[in-house]
Amino acid sequence: MTAFMTLPDARRFALTNATLPAVLVKGLPVAAKDGLVPADLVISDGKIEAILPAGSASADLVAADLRGGMVWPCFADMHTHLDKGHFWDRRPNPDGTFEGALMNVREDRMANWSADDIRARFEFSLKSAYAHGTKLIRTHLDSIPPQPDISFPLFDEIRAEWKDRIALQAVALLPLECVLDESVFGGIVATTKRYGGLLGGATRILPDFERILDTLFKAAANNGLDIDLHVDETEDKQVLTLEAIAEAKLRNRFEGSVTVGHCCSLARQDDETAGRVIDKVAKANISVVSLPMCNMYLQDRHAGRTPRWRGVTLFHELTAAGVKTAVSSDNTRDPFYAYGDMDPVEVFREAVRILHLDHPLDTSARVVTSTPAAILGRPDIGVIAEGGPADLVLFSARRWSEFLSRPQADRIVMRNGMGIDRRLPDYRDLDPILDK
Ligand SMILES: [Zn+2]
Repeated sequence: MTAFMTLPDARRFALTNATLPAVLVKGLPVAAKDGLVPADLVISDGKIEAILPAGSASADLVAADLRGGMVWPCFADMHTHLDKGHFWDRRPNPDGTFEGALMNVREDRMANWSADDIRARFEFSLKSAYAHGTKLIRTHLDSIPPQPDISFPLFDEIRAEWKDRIALQAVALLPLECVLDESVFGGIVATTKRYGGLLGGATRILPDFERILDTLFKAAANNGLDIDLHVDETEDKQVLTLEAIAEAKLRNRFEGSVTVGHCCSLARQDDETAGRVIDKVAKANISVVSLPMCNMYLQDRHAGRTPRWRGVTLFHELTAAGVKTAVSSDNTRDPFYAYGDMDPVEVFREAVRILHLDHPLDTSARVVTSTPAAILGRPDIGVIAEGGPADLVLFSARRWSEFLSRPQADRIVMRNGMGIDRRLPDYRDLDPILDK
């Protein structure tokens, strides 16, 4: 789709009559209506030189008039699976269930996940993410041996190749029972450390769960690694490992960063239990990422029965308790989620609907920008700041209702002050690896 306007071809120029989400602008003193403030931006040599009250940029500057259109910083997508994206057409999940997804991913991984196969799908996702305006991505990498020895060196190559476009982080996603098997876990920890990754895994009710967590936290502490776990991705209220994770972080006095994703079953608890667990998560300073599109797709799916709940965690209650909360893509066109395009605008739009982030929407823009970037240790990303790079996303939409009602396909993505080529990769590019 053609961009909604053209950018000036100049070293120094102004973006006038912009509308900025105030929560994403460093040092903005203006009280904002609906969280939005009018402003002029001066761009110079690829950087944001000044953020000015609307109408006050010098008339001598070459200017692009946004006529009220929103300007956001580039996005942070903090929970993805780039190693398993885009193979739906090769190995779908015919019944759409969580169990079916696990089985089909396992079979596809064992049959097909060479470095070349992963690279083709991984890069497809990166091209899409870049075109949509993303600048920072954390991906989980399936890490059941021998896969980490293929995926992590490949990740390291791709991270270097993409470093000027998208900053990448990787989490070793392992079956947590293997934490107690030193012959397996020791190798995964070493690989994770060698490639600057994080330790992760999917929790479920396991014998010796406290010992597993203590071993995981000790290994992370001893090797200077952070932790990012898939937690309680189930409607089964009996499964509530989130509390044990918070207790383990406190018990081990773990000083690294701990992030948990999903936490679906928290929403199935009675108020007293939920309140107790949320307090512990807040006390332990654990960050929570919700994956609303994937949760609504997988949770409460039973053949022939209409779903009765949305599958998402207690996002508002966690936020109110002071927990850092964000939303993210999760899976893309694989057995865990048949759809998706690595577009944080879609994730935000769906999150607003599914999690009721609206009314008011005043600070909601943080959930795909500044908060996930801060959780990932990159507070420089996902914000609009004087002196920072002009890595911005420009929209025709002026207000929330306009922004959230269309896919914003005509947006402009600016990197270092220049518009990028926003063409999305063609699905046909994947045919060579999928036509097997
Ligand atoms: Zn995930």
